[in-house]
Amino acid sequence: METVRTTVLGYPRIGARRELKRATEDYWAGRTDAAALHQAAAALRRDTWETLRDAGVDLIPSHTFSFYDHVLDHAELFGAVPHRFAGLDGLDRYFAMARGTEGVAPLEMTKWFDTNYHYLVPELGPDTTFRTAGARSRPVTEYHEAAALGITTRPVLLGPLSFLLLSKPAVDAPKEFRPLDLLDPLLDAYVGLLDGLADAGVEWVQVDEPVLAADRNSAELAALRTAYERLGSLAHRPKLMVATYFGPIGPALPVLAGTEVDGLALDLVAGAADFDRIAAAGLGDRTVVAGLVDGRNVWRTDLSRAMSVAASLLGSVGDLVVGTSCSLLHVPLDLTLEPDLPGGLRGRLAFARQKVDEVVLLGRALREGHQAVERELAAASANDGTAADTVDGRVRARLASLGTGTARRDYAERARLQAATGALPPLPTTTIGSFPQTARIRRARADLRAGRIDQATYDTRMRSEIDEIVALQEDIGLDVLVHGEPERNDMVQYFAERLSGFAGTSHGWVQSYGTRYVRPPILYADVARPRPMTVEWTTYAQSRTGRPVKGMLTGPVTMLAWSFVRDDQPPAETARQVALALRDEIRDLEAAGIRYIQVDEPALRELLPLRAADQPAYVDWAVGAFRLATSGVADRTQIHSHMCYSEFGEIVDTIDALDADVTSVEAARSRMELVTDLAKAGYRRGIGPGVYDIHSPRVPTVAEIEEALRLALEAVPADRLWVNPDCGLKTRTYAEVEPALRHLVEATRRVRATL
Ligand code: GLN
Ligand code: ZN
Repeated sequence: METVRTTVLGYPRIGARRELKRATEDYWAGRTDAAALHQAAAALRRDTWETLRDAGVDLIPSHTFSFYDHVLDHAELFGAVPHRFAGLDGLDRYFAMARGTEGVAPLEMTKWFDTNYHYLVPELGPDTTFRTAGARSRPVTEYHEAAALGITTRPVLLGPLSFLLLSKPAVDAPKEFRPLDLLDPLLDAYVGLLDGLADAGVEWVQVDEPVLAADRNSAELAALRTAYERLGSLAHRPKLMVATYFGPIGPALPVLAGTEVDGLALDLVAGAADFDRIAAAGLGDRTVVAGLVDGRNVWRTDLSRAMSVAASLLGSVGDLVVGTSCSLLHVPLDLTLEPDLPGGLRGRLAFARQKVDEVVLLGRALREGHQAVERELAAASANDGTAADTVDGRVRARLASLGTGTARRDYAERARLQAATGALPPLPTTTIGSFPQTARIRRARADLRAGRIDQATYDTRMRSEIDEIVALQEDIGLDVLVHGEPERNDMVQYFAERLSGFAGTSHGWVQSYGTRYVRPPILYADVARPRPMTVEWTTYAQSRTGRPVKGMLTGPVTMLAWSFVRDDQPPAETARQVALALRDEIRDLEAAGIRYIQVDEPALRELLPLRAADQPAYVDWAVGAFRLATSGVADRTQIHSHMCYSEFGEIVDTIDALDADVTSVEAARSRMELVTDLAKAGYRRGIGPGVYDIHSPRVPTVAEIEEALRLALEAVPADRLWVNPDCGLKTRTYAEVEPALRHLVEATRRVRATL
């Protein structure tokens, strides 16, 4: 039998104690210098390499570290730096591209595929000139850095096709320009880089092409062929390992098999469908990394299943390597840092460090036969809980008896009733929910956590925050008020802490972007709502004002998207359980006299599967869950929903199918274009296109809000148009929020006067 080896495609770079965050933020604040930051980074890299080596991983990746984002690193590596950063260099330029600097806008940030990681979008134009620093470039220097520790590594590069397809045309690029036009010059730069790596003695490079997990047209597949025919045919280069992840590689497999690449890394978790293609692909003696340990979720691997999948590949590939499905960047670092997880859960979990052990154990089992590692295998699959812990019979029975229970209600009829009974003016003004999370609010939360104050004192403080927030909104003259969400640290965590079936972690940090890390809850068991979660705060706010207060909940899809979700049942089923809990909450809010209830679904778009063929099934369950949550109310109760982005073209029908009465969306940055798009697509419900961008500290003028409203009114009638900012206000200060909202109300008055 050939020798089976082991690898991981990447590892978390933030450090066990979030060292990278501290080092970076100290540098930004001027508390430390560049040398200190570089030193901290080198320590983190060393720690990762040594951890992987000591764990027994055979093939260790390098150039997976980043100060901010690996796509930005590649823009820098190839010299794709927009002109506006020309005056800067070194770390200053790098961080300016990431975060902006005095008067210079950063690169745009966007979602990394269907994960909650965000990357910076390179800007390319016909005048972009690529180059690399060759022997002084980071993939080479990091290789030497590891070699100096006695560790041989496989540098990781983002592949040329992915780099171009993840980039966007610079604003001043001609209309017909496409980043893919730059394939040839970009390949020149890769040729130079591969040359430098070969000179350094690098045996393998990993070239990541995650864009192959999404649908690719024939021009893109042709570009893929061009790229790897050229790189493959180089006389002086390391061996090329092309890696795809987040889904099946599909039709790109035969394309790559037709080139001289030496190896492929395939995601056999999200892309399990690839398994059947491998034997047919004629990979001959090529190396294949079978990505069998899930890099996207926190569950233990079913090692005996993984073993049999790996074993059955042995005949159809050259060298077999077992590995992770993708980089471990997307999971928390180490389970042993978690002291208090619910009994039964710990035994089912594997974080990055534990996944490394799984990979190593799989490798040994395949090399030595599973008898040799029987004891370790048994220990690894031992479970200190039982499956019964995850089942809540009452929830299941209720869901079964509800059936789909989400018949579409008659919107037109409802709208008439709501208009007749509500006393709202045309163009009602409102906000998206949160008000600034001030230092005072954060202090109260910290005091409660540290035991310096008790729950009753905390609640009193929150009520007085609500008093102020309500009074301010009345004074400003908003029509539909909110309680301001002072008690919520995070829109998902708040609910996860109040629903059974979710567990929180204390160190389970995952990078979202730059130095912003999140701690997604773990949704591990059937979900139930032991008691109302928001009713007290909402009714308290309502008791302070004669104006209507809008209740505020996080929707089922977003609860799943921003958690680690159990994989022992379909997500559709899990979403229905969350939806049922929300349905009860909505009923309770309604019974308490709340007539406007908003269910936020900012993540609806991000869970949309990468391949079109998978999308209808997703839309089906996502819509079903939202409707299950919201369809239990009387016609008089108005359901709002909110989404944070403006790329709606492809999901207009989905938004309509949600059957909400009013949807608020981001629109300010696209100058209300989306309203026109929605109207054209036949969207006939209430719409609240954000009239100003809350992501910027700038206070909008009355005139510009007025203009935005007039633009929106060209596409939607006044009785369906709502006026609101484009997202929650929690990251802003009152110095920004108060004048902005006053301008919003004034602009609305002016427009109303002309109706
Ligand atoms: N209601 C939430 C807030 O205002 C919505 C946040 C979001 O859309 N991401 O903060
Ligand atoms: Zn939002």
